[in-house]
Amino acid sequence: MRVIAPQPGILDIALYQGGASHIDGVTDVLKLSSNENPFGPSGPATEAVQAAAVNLHRYPSIDHAPVRAAIADVHGLDPDRIIMGVGSDEILSLLALCYAGEGDEVLYTEHGFSIYPIVARAAGATPVVAQEKDRVVDVDAVLGAITGETRLIYIANPANPTGTMLPMSELARLADGVPESCLLVLDGAYAEFVDGYDGGASLVEARNNVVMTRTFSKIYGLGGLRVGWGYAPRAIIDVLNRVRGPFNMSLLALAGAEAAVRDTDFVDTCRRVNTEERARLTGGLRQMGIACDDSFANFVLARFGDEAEATAAEAYFKTQGILVRLVKGYGFPEALRITVGRPEDVTRVLDAMAEFRGMV
Ligand SMILES: *Cc1c(COP(=O)(O)O)cnc(C)c1O
Repeated sequence: MRVIAPQPGILDIALYQGGASHIDGVTDVLKLSSNENPFGPSGPATEAVQAAAVNLHRYPSIDHAPVRAAIADVHGLDPDRIIMGVGSDEILSLLALCYAGEGDEVLYTEHGFSIYPIVARAAGATPVVAQEKDRVVDVDAVLGAITGETRLIYIANPANPTGTMLPMSELARLADGVPESCLLVLDGAYAEFVDGYDGGASLVEARNNVVMTRTFSKIYGLGGLRVGWGYAPRAIIDVLNRVRGPFNMSLLALAGAEAAVRDTDFVDTCRRVNTEERARLTGGLRQMGIACDDSFANFVLARFGDEAEATAAEAYFKTQGILVRLVKGYGFPEALRITVGRPEDVTRVLDAMAEFRGMV
């Protein structure tokens, strides 16, 4: 007799591990484990969510036209090539469901974001990993790993958890080398932290097999609202729209995102403070002999001498009420990923690190 069983690949999925959010017995935890905006959301975004709450008995819009228009306006994009998702995770997942299946390969890099193998396996496809070079995406290794079966390539730029990024010339070389039979997905979750970087939008517009994803969870400080978006050729948007739930975006999510994207002053301020504080955090760590690459995002990957030291540092930070992220699952047992906080948070991190280093 046939028993009920999930589709192939599903039971191979390792559950996503999020950043911890509390420490037993500590009330004012400094959470630097999930790359959230330490300043919270912008005031207008919070007000828009509150104002929208009076209409909670109404179904939300299906086409998300007002928020797509706002995004198109602010970023100078075509609203008809934008799709809204429940976080950019939903867009990444829809792409895998629509374009990959059994026998297909989904390619990403050595230290790539842990959602990529999850969405690949959920679609029944086979995850394939290309090596990086000194914690940076290696365009030649990615191109070399493409086979006739490759359907999707996920590249985060800047990348998580390394914080490194490819310059536009390398991204263009990558896009040029990807065959028509394969989609290149540029995950721009941290694009707003890089002054002048379009997240790959120009590559989307110049080709028919490049997609960009973006999120409101990082610089916009709206991780709890769950809003992301994708920018893709019209034919791909049309495919994704057939599969996404018609009411995937809640009324509150749509209202908050629209107000947030229009508050460009808030984004500019957050980018500027992040750049300053990231430099202070990076410099301070290096001064203590802790290696870190130049980060282009809102976190720094601090590499210790070995796994034991990274584990001890994470535990010590916890005793000081500070949560940072162990990244063993990403192939960095000797490292901690530390979100860039407010100036006073960075000072607290550097002080705690100096104390920790003084103890060992
Ligand atoms: C945080 C993050 C996302 C965003 O996920 P959401 O679902 O939009 O919250 C996407 N990609 C990477 C690499 C990230 O670090």
